[in-house]
Amino acid sequence: MRTDEKLALNSYKTDTESHIRVDTLLCKDCREKNCLLFCPGDLYYIDENGEVHVEYSGCLECGTCMLVCPKGAIRWSYPRGGFGIRLRYG
Ligand code: SF4
Repeated sequence: MRTDEKLALNSYKTDTESHIRVDTLLCKDCREKNCLLFCPGDLYYIDENGEVHVEYSGCLECGTCMLVCPKGAIRWSYPRGGFGIRLRYG
């Protein structure tokens, strides 16, 4: 089974608030933008103004983005109780 097929088995209960905060001011000085490269869910993107955003609803809760950010611009926590990913649904 391919990785994308395994990921498709997961389900999510999305909270109304994001459990990931991106400090876009710190991001502006970041050349590496590791969050765009290392998130296994490919959830980070840059908008038309050059600001980094994250689509938190699909988060796999691995914590990688927080660890690879060289600017410390990502504040990450687990989603509130009852929200987030449900692994291997189905
Ligand atoms: Fe992506 Fe993992 Fe960060 Fe979630 S915790 S946004 S899956 S890198």
